[in-house]
Parts: sequence; structure tokens; C-alpha cells
Amino acid sequence: MSRIARLSPLLANQIAAGEVIERPSSIVKEVLENALDAGASRIEIDIEEAGKSLIRIRDNGCGIEADDLALALTRHATSKIGTVDDLQAIESLGFRGEALASIAAVSKLKLISRTESGDTGYEVSVEGSDCEPSLAPCAHPIGTTVEVRQLFFNVPARRKFLRADQTEFNHIHEVVKQIAMSCHTVAFTLRHNGKRILQLPGGASPQKQRLRVSKVCGNAFVESAGFFNTLANHCELVGWVGAPEQARSYNDCQYFYVNGRLVKDKLVSHAVREAYSEFLYTGKYPAFVLFLTIPADKVDVNVHPTKHEVRFHESRWVHDFIYKN
Ligand code: ADP
Ligand code: MG
Repeated sequence: MSRIARLSPLLANQIAAGEVIERPSSIVKEVLENALDAGASRIEIDIEEAGKSLIRIRDNGCGIEADDLALALTRHATSKIGTVDDLQAIESLGFRGEALASIAAVSKLKLISRTESGDTGYEVSVEGSDCEPSLAPCAHPIGTTVEVRQLFFNVPARRKFLRADQTEFNHIHEVVKQIAMSCHTVAFTLRHNGKRILQLPGGASPQKQRLRVSKVCGNAFVESAGFFNTLANHCELVGWVGAPEQARSYNDCQYFYVNGRLVKDKLVSHAVREAYSEFLYTGKYPAFVLFLTIPADKVDVNVHPTKHEVRFHESRWVHDFIYKN
């Protein structure tokens, strides 16, 4: 063994990126979450070669101050929490201040943004290097564009694990649908190699929410599924559950959101499975889209880097609430 040495910031970020950035779709997820946290009402996603050569996401959110642009690319830099108390009740999708730094460490990243008070847009670029990014003015509407080129250009080990374009693009498509389902007020456009794949107009009404679910899960699902809405103990459970006889052979339509965040949580899936258990043939998967809204201080989302798992403070109660309804 050699002597102990501190990792360079770049290498540390590349290691951290291993947890957060598994494939192009992971970047799309992180950048979309940032756009939603920024209050965007319109998000445009352009993908080339399944994200291997380009991922460009534009939003019309609040933007980033010119002086903060370079900082946003560094690790542990966030505008979403400031104290340990904030950690107890997270209302934003992000809070770890890791995504942009991780993306920057494994790709050629350009961040362009303009705030309402800014007279013009500004951009910073980094190419996985340790050097200070330079700031330059450029034309841009209010909001932010994140441009990720040549993913894993400097991490060959990671590049090797990328699958065929169709597979990688399917992952991206799925991530966009998952996120779009939780926020029907936001308009989304997804293009791949210049071809429009998904166009989802935004709108606040319940009909728009239904339309969004039908665009993602198919009209047949929404038509046949039961809609329900229950409230108890400051928790709300809203959504569509497919009838047992419409259960599918794949678990491709199982969406459970906790405070707008898609979770793949054991407790949640167990409760749902149990609720269906008497009615379902083995090997069949129920279809459902459920949104649980629970006070932010009753759930801990800081359990997993990709935040797919959560911890409920009153887990038994939550389990039974899902099960009984
Ligand atoms: P986190 O989302 O956990 O805070 P990120 O690395 O994803 O960390 O982003 C760092 C910071 O950059 C965010 O806290 C936010 O202030 C800013 N930011 C990133 N993307 C956007 C965006 N699309 N619009 C506005 N601000 C953004
Ligand atoms: Mg983020």
C-alpha cells in the first residue's frame, strides 16, 4: 500500500458521480428536478444519440444569478437547505448539492441562465477539469439551459456500460414520463435526434391531471381505473388504481409518489400488493398511479443518494393508510 493522499476534487466528484449518474437518464432526472425546484412551467428536453452525445434541457424557471453559476457546479453547493433543521422538512426535490458537480465531473457541461433581474444571460462551461470555469455573457430568456455533451468522455469504465441507443433512450423516456406525471401543471417537450417524442401541455385543472395520466399510462388505464381521493391525519392519497382483472404481466404501470417524488419503496409496494393480494392472480401486476401528500416533517427523504427510498416516521400508519384505501 502507498501513503495516504487526499483525492483531487475532480476524482472525488467522479467517485460521487458513480452513485448519482449511472446512465444518461440519471442526468435527465436530476436536471428535470432542478427545473421543477426552480418553479418552471415549461421544460424542453433535447436528446441526441440517447443522451450519449447531447442532453439539453431548457426551463423557464427562476434562473441562477451570474455570480452563483460557477458555484452551482461545485459539490455541496445548494440554495435549497441551509441548516440541519431544513433537513427535517424537505420540500424541494433536490437538497444535496451534488447533481451538477457530478455531471460536470463526467461530461462537458454548459450551464446558461438568466434571472428576472439580470439584464442578460450568462454561461459557464466545464470539461471535467479542475480549472475554474469562466463566466461569459450570452443571450438567454429568463430560466436555465443545461447542456451536457459527451457523457463519460473521461470515464471509459462507465462508458463501457452504456447500452444500445434504443435502450438508453427508453430509460430517458420513462424518466420524463415519471416526472411529468407528478406535475401536470408543467408543459414538457421531449425530442430525440430532432424528432418529437412527447408533447405534454400543462394546465392546473383536474381534467388536465387526468389527461396527463392518460398520456403517460394510456387512455385505457384511466378509463377503466377507479379514481379516489382520501384525506386523514393531514395526509392525502389521490390517484387511479386499475381493477384487478386489468392487472398486467409487467410492472410497467406502477407509480407511487410521495410529495411529488416517485419512490420505489418497499413499505409502499408491500402495502399496495397486500391491498390487492386477495384479488390478484399470481404473476400479475396491478396498475396504479398514486400520489401521497404527507407533511414534509413526517417523512425523511435523505436515505438514499437517488432518493428512490424514503423513511416514514409513522411507517405503520402510512402502510395501513395505503392498504386500507
Ligand atoms: P441541489 O438540487 O441538490 O441543490 P444541484 O447540484 O442539482 O443541487 O444544483 C445546485 C444548485 O444550482 C441548486 O441548489 C440551485 O440553486 C441551482 N440550480 C440548478 N439547476 C437550476 C435550474 N434549472 N434553475 C435554477 N437554479 C438551478
Ligand atoms: Mg438538484
